Amino acid sequence: MAETRQLIILGSGAAGLTAAIYAARAELQPLLFEGRQPGGQLTITTEVENYPGFAEAIMGPDLMVRMRAQAERFGTEIITAEVESVNLKVKPFEIVAKGNRYTANTVIIATGAEAKLLGLPSEAKLLGHGVSACATCDGYFCKNQRVAVVGGGDTAMEEATFLTKFASHVNVIHRRDKLRASKIMQERAMANPKISFTWDSEVEEVLGVDKGRVTGLRLMNLKTGKSGAIELDGLFIGIGHQPNTKLFQGQLDLTATGYIKTLTGTRTNIPGVFAAGDVQDSVYRQAVTAAGSGCMAALDAERYLEELKHPSHALPPAGLDKEGAADLSEARRVR
Ligand code: NAP
Repeated sequence: MAETRQLIILGSGAAGLTAAIYAARAELQPLLFEGRQPGGQLTITTEVENYPGFAEAIMGPDLMVRMRAQAERFGTEIITAEVESVNLKVKPFEIVAKGNRYTANTVIIATGAEAKLLGLPSEAKLLGHGVSACATCDGYFCKNQRVAVVGGGDTAMEEATFLTKFASHVNVIHRRDKLRASKIMQERAMANPKISFTWDSEVEEVLGVDKGRVTGLRLMNLKTGKSGAIELDGLFIGIGHQPNTKLFQGQLDLTATGYIKTLTGTRTNIPGVFAAGDVQDSVYRQAVTAAGSGCMAALDAERYLEELKHPSHALPPAGLDKEGAADLSEARRVR
């Protein structure tokens, strides 16, 4: 078995790679695992126009190639392998990938979240070419276009309302005749003259694969069983997100919707385990916020390791006030 690492990072999206850049520059020689979608969700986006520093925009995959190179430049070791299991109940923490066992004194979890998709072949082919799961990222490209949003929850209402800033018309397509969204979000969407609703309907196919861009949808009315086509230029899937937390179930405290619970900063309920990016953020979900929390996690891990070395004169972890520090000592005492 390889020697125990100071830090292992799980995930290679904006949060994981930023954590690696900071940790590597702090000479923690981090080991980072990148799984089945190296680079994370940004690799399925086209132009990124809201990441600071790129006035002319940058393609999502290019941004992630640069972040990876930056992490490697300072000595991050990257292993491309799906992590099979983690044991956070032992010290050092254990990670198993490709049958090999790795150990570390701290772990940063940055495994991200995935936007749920409908699962249609035509949807997959047009992802990034008119099909999107992020209005904040891609809404700007819909100026004066007709678009649709699938879903009936808060995400769908929020995306639809946001898209009316750009699109000429937004059609919300929902599989039932009642919305799941909170009352205030429903009312806001319903009062917006640019939004219309198509009830009891399911997307059967995204049209335009032959042209390489969305040209319409074939919808089925679930009550009548009848199908018909509508013309439009873009489709946003707003049916929710799934955080990648399966590996940590039963070990870390999760929210009711499956996100990792973080206390002040990026600390989890297990001292030495930190979480950053979309795996712990169901609200902001932006590349820049993920990168920011990756930086925070690396600083928190660094301070934690310092504290292990010099327990008597350690500073409280970044962002912790006296009360938080007392909670942390209590958590450590209980363990
Ligand atoms: P959600 O509440 O689970 O709603 C998902 C919606 O998508 C539901 O209307 C569901 O239909 C529909 N749906 C699910 N799978 C589908 C499929 N395969 N095909 C067609 N439709 C499908 O998810 P969410 O809207 O992402 O919200 C998640 C949580 O985040 C909620 O607690 C929400 O309040 C919160 N949130 C808050 C805000 C805010 O306050 N600004 C914004 C976004 C999210 P059914 O209704 O038929 O099940």
